[in-house]
Amino acid sequence: MGEMLKFEEALRIVTDSAFITGTAEIDFTSACGRVLSEDIVSDIDIPPFNRSAVDGYACRKDELTSDLEVAGVIAAGMEPLPPPGRNQCFKIMTGGVVPEECDMVFMVEDAEVLSSGKVRFRGFSLKNNISLKGEDIKAGSTVLPAGRNIEPQDIAVMASAGCTRVKVREKPLLAVISSGDELVEPSEKPAPGQIRDSNSYQLVAQALRAGASPRFYGIARDNENETFELLSRAISENDIVIITGGVSVGDYDFIPSVMEKAGVTILFSSIAVQPGKPTTFGLHPEALIFGLPGNPVSSFIQFEVLVRPLIDVMTGSNRRPAEMTMRMGGDYSRRSADRMGWHPVIIEPEGFILPLEYHGSAHISSLTGADGIMRIPEGVYRLEKGAIVHVRRI
Ligand code: AMP
Ligand code: MG
Repeated sequence: MGEMLKFEEALRIVTDSAFITGTAEIDFTSACGRVLSEDIVSDIDIPPFNRSAVDGYACRKDELTSDLEVAGVIAAGMEPLPPPGRNQCFKIMTGGVVPEECDMVFMVEDAEVLSSGKVRFRGFSLKNNISLKGEDIKAGSTVLPAGRNIEPQDIAVMASAGCTRVKVREKPLLAVISSGDELVEPSEKPAPGQIRDSNSYQLVAQALRAGASPRFYGIARDNENETFELLSRAISENDIVIITGGVSVGDYDFIPSVMEKAGVTILFSSIAVQPGKPTTFGLHPEALIFGLPGNPVSSFIQFEVLVRPLIDVMTGSNRRPAEMTMRMGGDYSRRSADRMGWHPVIIEPEGFILPLEYHGSAHISSLTGADGIMRIPEGVYRLEKGAIVHVRRI
């Protein structure tokens, strides 16, 4: 406690504190966005048979020089037909079963239908146009590994592999509490001296996107007893608790002491990052607790860089932060460099990044115009156009 931790150390303390959530078996149609807790194995070869990839004529390649008699038509979904006779072929539709002995399907576009009813190959390409049985997926093989964050395209793989019930990790239950006498609900018009609570709703949305199950516990007034009650209830009902505001050094910033009163062991209360220096983290036997700064940009960024990785560890996710190296498309400078910095940026179509104008951690609209946040290492005051920086999408 006390001294400013390096970001990497803070991140390690947070992720080392994680426990793994339980598992649940759910229908594959509702699995998108969840984390797999088992390998998904296919019960069949995919494709399940030699399948035509085009509309055309299934034939033997070594008979292509002859005019071929059309022995029948194969549509998708028909049962397999026996091989054609000598110098015969089948007209076949995309998705149809290619008969045994046929090693090529030439495309309709490459076929000339003769007045005799026979067809002649007029093409140049000797491509097979056959998707071979099992070439995508072999029966018994793992198609999606445990730890995978399930994407829409994975749902297609599950469907093809016949996995209609899948085991996923439970979502961590995450409580959001905001604190401050100045806060009013967004539906209210702030009176002089008041502002609308924006953090809580932002955090709930971030938690949802990160794969947690968030619940808003309301606004705690700057009053130790009320804050204590709300915090204690949130701790007993959740895996992660985030309370925003009240962690800096103002007269009413008593969140760390209330945390301790609630039985939380504080592991750090200051990180060498900007914004987000007073970020506080502690452990309770029932939950992990974050005190995030009240400024909406700080709380947004600290959630992304600290809480999201924690949720990934808790859900056994193998997703890693999408950090890319990119080049500066303009100059950037800052007045102090004693902390690692995060700064909102635009990613230009050509791949250059432009730092956004940013008036500090209360500048809430700066993030809505940003594609990402760039990381400025400790000790670095200036980044010239062309310099390489790390950028995280937001
Ligand atoms: P604090 O961390 O309590 O010192 O608050 C720092 C700044 O963030 C102050 O200007 C607060 O009014 C503002 N703030 C605190 N909590 C919120 C919130 N939930 N939504 C929007 N702004 C907030
Ligand atoms: Mg406050």
